[in-house]
Amino acid sequence: MKVNKIICPNAHENMVLIRAEKEMRFKGADIKFLAEYYMCQKCGAEVGTVKQTAATQRAISDAYRKTKGLFTSKEIRERRKKQGLTQQQLAERMNVGVASVKRWEGGLIQSKSMNTALLSALRGQTVGNNYTGNRDFSIERVKLVMREFEALLDEYFIEEGDMLLFDAKYAWYADMVAFREHGRSITGATYAALPHGPQLNNYKELVDLIRDADETKAEPLTQEEKRILVRIAKRFPEKQMIIDAAHREEVWKGKSSGALMPYSDSFELKQI
Ligand SMILES: [Zn+2]
Repeated sequence: MKVNKIICPNAHENMVLIRAEKEMRFKGADIKFLAEYYMCQKCGAEVGTVKQTAATQRAISDAYRKTKGLFTSKEIRERRKKQGLTQQQLAERMNVGVASVKRWEGGLIQSKSMNTALLSALRGQTVGNNYTGNRDFSIERVKLVMREFEALLDEYFIEEGDMLLFDAKYAWYADMVAFREHGRSITGATYAALPHGPQLNNYKELVDLIRDADETKAEPLTQEEKRILVRIAKRFPEKQMIIDAAHREEVWKGKSSGALMPYSDSFELKQI
C-alpha cells in the first residue's frame, strides 16, 4: 500500500490509499461501487482528494443508473462518439442545452424521459414521438399482434362486440416493453389511461377498423418483437392476470381518466 502525505483530520500520521468496493443505499436503491480514498490507520477517518471525491460521485451515479436501466456517463460518451456526434450535436438532436449533455456525461443522473430521448438520439434517430413509441401507427400491426397473442394464449381476441378490454392491455404491454428494450414500439399505437386500465386511445373508433384490418399487409414481426410477445403471454397466460397487473401499475393509477400514456412510462412498469 502506498503511503501518502495527506494528513488525517484528527491530525494523526500518514494516511493509506484504499481502493475498495463499497455498498450503500442511494435514492432507494442498493448499490455497489468502487471507491478510492485515503484512510487513517489510527482512527479510520476517510479522506478523498478532490479528484477522488468526483470519481466516487460518478461511480455512485453510474451504479445507480445501472440498477435503473439508465445510461451511465461512460455509455453516453461512448455511444455519442460511435455516432460521430459532438456534445453540441447530441444536444441539438435532443432539443436540450449542451450543458445537460455535459452534466450527464459528468455524472448527473438523467430523468427516465431524458434517458428515452437519449436512447433515440443515440440510435441515430431524431427525438421520437413519446406517444407512438417512434413508429408510425399501423392498424394492421395491431391486428397482427392480437392474432399472435390469440395463437400464443389460445384465446379469442377481437371478438364480436369486443371493446378490447384485455386485448388492448396485451398490446400495451407489448408496445411498452418493445420501446423500453429497443427504443421502438411494435404498433405505433397511442394509449390512454381509462377507468378499466390502459387502452388504445380512441378505441371506440378503432375497434371496427382493427377487426377489418388485413394483418397480412402489416410489416412482419421481427424475432425480437416475437420474443417480447412470447414473454408477455408467458407472464400473463390468463386475461384476468393482465388486467390485474395493469391495474397495479403506478403509471396507470397516477393518471386522470383519459390522459395519454407516454412511452416513457415503460421505464416505470413493475409487473414485467
Ligand atoms: Zn486519524
